Amino acid sequence: MDSPSRYSVIIIGAGVSGLSAAKVLTENGLEDLVILEASDRIGGRVRKEDFGGVSVELGAGWIAGVGGKESNPVWELANQSGLRTRFSDYSNARYNIYDRSGKIFPSGLAADSYKKAVDSAMQQLRKEEAVRGEVRGSGCDVSRVTEPPSSPKTPIELAIDFILHDFEMAEVEPISTYVDFGEQEYLVADERGYEYLLYKMAEDFLFTSEGNILDSRLKLNKVVRELQQSRNGVKVLTEDGCVYEANYVVLSASIGVLQSDLISFRPPLPRWKMEAIETCDVMVYTKIFLKFPYKFWPCGPEKEFFIYAHERRGYYTFWQHMENAFPGSNILVVTLTNGESKRVEAQSDEETLKEAMGVLRDMFGPNIPNATDILVPRWWNNRFQRGSYSNYPIISNPLLFQNIKAPVGRIFFTGEHTSERFNGYVHGGYLAGIDTGKALIEEIRKERKSDQSSNNLLEPLLALTGSTLTLTQTEAVSNLHKCDLPTQLYLSGKLGLPEAIL
Ligand SMILES: Cc1cc2nc3c(=O)[nH]c(=O)nc-3n(C[C@H](O)[C@H](O)[C@H](O)COP(=O)(O)OP(=O)(O)OC[C@H]3O[C@@H](n4cnc5c(N)ncnc54)[C@H](O)[C@@H]3O)c2cc1C
Repeated sequence: MDSPSRYSVIIIGAGVSGLSAAKVLTENGLEDLVILEASDRIGGRVRKEDFGGVSVELGAGWIAGVGGKESNPVWELANQSGLRTRFSDYSNARYNIYDRSGKIFPSGLAADSYKKAVDSAMQQLRKEEAVRGEVRGSGCDVSRVTEPPSSPKTPIELAIDFILHDFEMAEVEPISTYVDFGEQEYLVADERGYEYLLYKMAEDFLFTSEGNILDSRLKLNKVVRELQQSRNGVKVLTEDGCVYEANYVVLSASIGVLQSDLISFRPPLPRWKMEAIETCDVMVYTKIFLKFPYKFWPCGPEKEFFIYAHERRGYYTFWQHMENAFPGSNILVVTLTNGESKRVEAQSDEETLKEAMGVLRDMFGPNIPNATDILVPRWWNNRFQRGSYSNYPIISNPLLFQNIKAPVGRIFFTGEHTSERFNGYVHGGYLAGIDTGKALIEEIRKERKSDQSSNNLLEPLLALTGSTLTLTQTEAVSNLHKCDLPTQLYLSGKLGLPEAIL
């Protein structure tokens, strides 16, 4: 057991945001930090798995926002690492909508239904904005005011409604990712996985050898259960009975985890913080992978994405074949969200396979082969995730975001959910970690300065008790030789932080 230990900063979570925060801290000379990660790997929601002979992405799959006026920093990392990617064009999905008898809806009908749905959604948005304006005058909580959504009825309307609201318009317009970084999306199709970018980032500040992180400042399988905050620091208690202490904590756990009871806070988080955390929605997004002995779906141009129209909204609606990413892999992916994701997570994979095969036989006929393998990620039931990503209410109060991000005493919050402009994305997590790292460095500098000025005030008093001062310094120096490295660094931090921070 390696407790108790004292550090300058403890980072909770080794996803993209925790790692980018750690990188900023170390670049600024703050080396005595530790990263506590609940699972047995880094990456968090960036995660690959071997399936059907290739490497598939269970979490983030696309680098979204490419080709615009600014360069997406994750796209830059991908280019530096030579990550293999493939351009994705969803725009034709709406012309590949199958009904339950396997017929594709005529493109005119699909285009009309799509336009009607977009118009109705825009109308709804304007109505809500108007209500928001009125309510703002009356001082009510506008984030809770919503009109009942328009109700699509036919299978094609339901399918389009699903695509529009759970994918295309799930975010506040205009979507900053597309405005800043461009509208193109690239699917990561690399055997090393999307997570390779995170390993490359970690390599810059953690000791690695032959692709493995061997640095003792990264501690895996450390499930944080309690944060005890006092005026001088934070104690972090883990499930395996260890206690870590630090001047500051950076907490990168997802919004779903913050809404759960995995981590308790002593004293409890203030009401404004709790209310903000509770108000932010969690989106569940599940990609189910199916492996087949051979292809039976169309693979020509503009056929990568296709849609199934069913009476039940979101029932195995959105499909993609993996031939562009991995030719000859014979893999299909179907994406489920929210209620359907939770339903499928709760049942056996055999049951899910049966349902998916039923849908595929509706579209492609009774003679198609059975899938030989299925992979169903369970982001909702993963207690270290509790969902896929944050989803701010379309019309939301700006205070909500500020409160989610704001530190509480010595606990700093980071993660994709704290990125005002890019929440829900890998680049959102990456940039949020950088922001939080910088904010913390600033805070440490301020604290140092105020400590120094109070020391200056104390100097005349200490001059009267010179012998005591000498003894204390000697003790500190001799203790240095007895302590382990983090404690040494911590003590050296107390006697004077590294140049870069000061
Ligand atoms: C299915 C899915 C599809 C997605 N698709 C895309 C996409 O195509 N493009 C895109 O840009 N983004 C996508 N995203 C979103 C993207 O993956 C996330 O925004 C990003 O990875 C979040 O990074 P993070 O560091 O904020 O959080 P995380 O990656 O969740 O990191 C937090 C870390 O904290 C750890 N943790 C949690 N609780 C504790 C605890 N108590 N103690 C210690 N450690 C703890 C977790 O294990 C985790 O490793 C997708 C996500 C999912 C799930």
